[in-house]
Amino acid sequence: MANCSVCGSRFAEKKCYFCQNHVCTACVVPDDVSGSTTTVKCIACQRKGVKKLSFLAVVKRNKFVLAVLAGFWIFTVFPVPFINLAGYEGDVLISILQPVLIATGLMTIPFILMMIAWQKKAPKQN
Ligand SMILES: [Zn+2]
Ligand SMILES: [Zn+2]
Repeated sequence: MANCSVCGSRFAEKKCYFCQNHVCTACVVPDDVSGSTTTVKCIACQRKGVKKLSFLAVVKRNKFVLAVLAGFWIFTVFPVPFINLAGYEGDVLISILQPVLIATGLMTIPFILMMIAWQKKAPKQN
């Protein structure tokens, strides 16, 4: 196990969500101060005033969720080859596409909000 990046203690059981450094429980900002029970924040980040991750860091950290989302999104935005395989064409295609596109647009909104929230707090599974 790595040493605590703040005090050098050997019992660095936690990992800071913001700087990715290992820290001991004594060097973690308490839940009531950080405002979240799922997000681990070290006192070094607290001192520096770090409040959120870069958007890129969030994307990297949630690769799996985003890959699933991207796959689903591609399917709904470009379903033409899939629908062609199923034997539909022309007018049928339009009438299928329209509601799908609207649904996709609506579905994307909560995910964008989630991404913004993830910049400040760790997702539950972390
Ligand atoms: Zn420590
Ligand atoms: Zn940190």
